[in-house]
Amino acid sequence: MERQIRYQREADLEWAHRFTEHPGCERLLSCIQCGTCSGTCPLSIYMDLTPRRVLAMVREGFREDVLRSKTIWLCASCYSCSVECPQKISITDVMYQLKREAIRNNVYPKRFPIPVLAQEFCEMVRRRGRNSEFWVVFRMALRSNPLILLSMARTGWDLWRTGRLSLRMERIQRTNELQHIPAASREVD
Ligand code: SF4
Ligand code: SF4
Repeated sequence: MERQIRYQREADLEWAHRFTEHPGCERLLSCIQCGTCSGTCPLSIYMDLTPRRVLAMVREGFREDVLRSKTIWLCASCYSCSVECPQKISITDVMYQLKREAIRNNVYPKRFPIPVLAQEFCEMVRRRGRNSEFWVVFRMALRSNPLILLSMARTGWDLWRTGRLSLRMERIQRTNELQHIPAASREVD
């Protein structure tokens, strides 16, 4: 993690307060910092901030640090932490909300494939009503690391040859009706 908060004045307690109003984040302030979430998380060893530290930093208002953290993009939404949390905090929903805010504020790691994949997926579903796996992955690779396409080529060819990968762009009928989807469900953009 590049940036380290050192002074309390850098904290944004207003943001922390607003954060707890998002669905799934309401119980955030009841965290007792027991660390069960970090101990349960299968990916915490790869994270720059453990889930317990994410919770602590969110509630203390260290907005920039958590939004720029790679942790939120490594979270696989497995819900283990949420199931085990003694305070019944939905840590997974906290991670989702942080991802949304990072994308909205344009502070996600630009060459990191996961946020790019999330954006491409949402954009395709919003425009066409369906996901086309090949095109989502292709566009993600172009934007994050085009060279990765070389390592995927052989697998892609085998999948296509055996009929398990379609190059067709899927779309639903009456895509104009997609604009009626509530704004809340189109937050990731
Ligand atoms: S398991 Fe729950 S109470 Fe314990 S540190 Fe994690 S979020 Fe806080
Ligand atoms: S939901 Fe995310 S943070 Fe929680 S245990 Fe799974 S990977 Fe870790």
